[in-house]
This record gives sequence, structure tokens and C-alpha cells, in this order.
Amino acid sequence: MTDEFLTSTQTLRKAIPLMIKHKVPTTPVNYALWYSYTSDQNPILTQAIDQSLAQYGHCPPSLSDSLYRTHLAQHPASEQGQISHSLQAIMDELCHTMTGSQKETQAFHHALSRTCQRLSQKAEQGVNVHEANDLVQELLDESRHMHQSSTLLNQQLENANQEIENLRKALKDSLKCANEDPLTGLLNRRAFQQDLSSCIQHHTPFSLVLLDIDNFKTFNDDFGHLMGDKVLCSVARHLQVWCEQGMQAYRYGGEEFVIILPGTNLHQSRDKAEKLRKTLSGIAVQDKQSGNTVSSITASFGIAEHTGKENGLAVLARADKYLLQAKSLGRNRVLPVL
Ligand code: GH3
Ligand code: MG
Ligand code: MG
Repeated sequence: MTDEFLTSTQTLRKAIPLMIKHKVPTTPVNYALWYSYTSDQNPILTQAIDQSLAQYGHCPPSLSDSLYRTHLAQHPASEQGQISHSLQAIMDELCHTMTGSQKETQAFHHALSRTCQRLSQKAEQGVNVHEANDLVQELLDESRHMHQSSTLLNQQLENANQEIENLRKALKDSLKCANEDPLTGLLNRRAFQQDLSSCIQHHTPFSLVLLDIDNFKTFNDDFGHLMGDKVLCSVARHLQVWCEQGMQAYRYGGEEFVIILPGTNLHQSRDKAEKLRKTLSGIAVQDKQSGNTVSSITASFGIAEHTGKENGLAVLARADKYLLQAKSLGRNRVLPVL
């Protein structure tokens, strides 16, 4: 336990200067992320941060968040504050118990060495059976006491582990509710707004791809809401596959999706979106009732590159303006045309 504590303190000592060097905000997410990076606990996470440092000179917040979500599965959303506090309380309690146990162990060692000393004195003087019996009895009592307190400690540790496990699960579930869209499993609009703000706050260059499924109301009317849901899930899966390193897709609302592409300019985003448009137009979902396959799905796209000076609303409004133009020009296209 002491070794583990020392190792984790050393890791944290290495992590903090790195965070300062790369101007990483000292949030619980980033502490956990950079702790994991410094201790090289997760090679995929380490590689992603290394790549990002080489490419951007820093770790974009959207990447930090997605790495954290993927690999460390905790998040400091406000509802989780209470859970974090409970976790802290359990850790405090554990530390307290461990300290108590160390004292018990020390007392046992002292009792043992005292008895051993007396035993060797008696051996020199010539020990009789009664005295030897008393000494053995003393040792027995001490070790029983020690056994009882270590059993209690084990029980306490077991309870604490169980509670930590429950809290970890509660934290995960609450994070899901807060940031995840239950239908598609994609991150939701709330997560998008957080990531968008932090990209702007940290001067991360990025583009946005905003897309909206075409004539989806008619699709629902023709094939039913359940089939519509299937389409949304299929689009979400395609977006996740399409996203390259660092990119993040979100369900913005209804049949609208948005993707943040860090370090990608308007031309590059347009090329990528064009590929995505073609892929989505190949989606086919099966109607279980009729057995028919429906494959008439298309989407319209609006792209915008952040200028570096504007706020989140402005860049999003530009992408939305192009999306509306794509709709009015006949749908199933990417705008602007460059
Ligand atoms: P446009 O090409 O102009 O975007 O036309 P549209 O029909 O796609 O747009 P409109 O805004 O008229 O309709 C959006 C439809 O999306 C209506 C709504 O029922 C459907 N929709 C929104 N959320 C869901 C959902 O979670 N599941 C299903 N099945 N449909 C949804
Ligand atoms: Mg639509
Ligand atoms: Mg829409």
C-alpha cells in the first residue's frame, strides 16, 4: 500500500509539470488523463496524446474529453459532484483505517519483540514451564487481537471496494444520461456545446460538419417511426466509423448531426463530408413487417471553418446557413462548393 502510494505520488509529480508545460487546465478530467499518460497505463491513450502533441503542440480539449470518456470513464459533470464527494469520503475513510491498521501492526511488533526479549532473558536464567506458558499465552492473546483487527480491516476494505464499485457505476450511468443520446449512443448536443466552447477557449483550429437527413418526416410517415429510429442508429454508426482520430460526432437533435474536426480546414472537411454523403446514401434498413429493404436515405450538409476570432454560435450559424442552402438547392449535397 505504501509502495503504491509512493509510486502514485511520483507519477503525479511528473504529470503536473507536463500539464503546466502544455497549458492543460487543471481539471479532474485532465489530472486523470495526464496521470494515466505519465504512468503509461494505457498505450493507446499515450499514443493518442503523443500524436496530438506532435501534430498540434498541445492536446485539444475535444480529444482530452473523448480519450477520458473512452479510456477512463469518469466525468466531472455537475450531477457527478455528489458522487465524487462520496468517493472522496470513502477514500478518506480508507486512509484512516489503513493508518489505524499500521498502528495496530506496530503495536503487535512491539509486543512480539518485548516478549521475545523476555523469553531470551528467561532462557539465560533458566525458564520454568509456568513462565514459558504465560509468555506463550501473552503472544497468543496479542496475535488473536491482531487477527481480529485485520479481519475487521479486511471487512472494511471489502465494504469500501463494494461502495467504490457502486459509485463508479452510478457515475458512469449519470454521465451517460448527461452527455449521451439514448437512441443512437452518440454524444448529445450538451456534450457538443461543451466541446465547442473548449475548442474556442483553447484556440484549437477546427471545422464543423452539420448534416440533416432529407425528408425524414415523409420517411417516418411512409415506413413508420421505428424504421425511422433504425435509420438514425445506422447514420450514427456510419458517423462513428467515418470519424478519424480526434474527430467527434454528436446527435445535435432530431435527425440532425454535427461533427467537430480539429485541425481540419474547410477544403479538407468538404472532401471528407462528400465521402460521408456518398456513404450515407448507401444506407439500407430492413422493414421487418414487409421484409422490404428501404434504401432511399440521403442527407444535406453545411460546413464551416472556425475563423479563430468568432464565437461558437457564429461558426455554427454559418454551417447551418450552408445546410439550409443545400436543402433549398435540392438536398443530398455538401455546401459551400469550393
Ligand atoms: P428536410 O429535408 O427539409 O430536413 O425535411 P425533414 O422532413 O427531414 O424535416 P422536418 O423538420 O420537417 O422533419 C423532421 C422529422 O424528423 C420529423 C420528426 O418526426 C423526425 N424525427 C425527429 N427525431 C426523431 C426520432 O428520434 N425518431 C424518428 N423516427 N423520427 C424523428
Ligand atoms: Mg431533415
Ligand atoms: Mg432537421
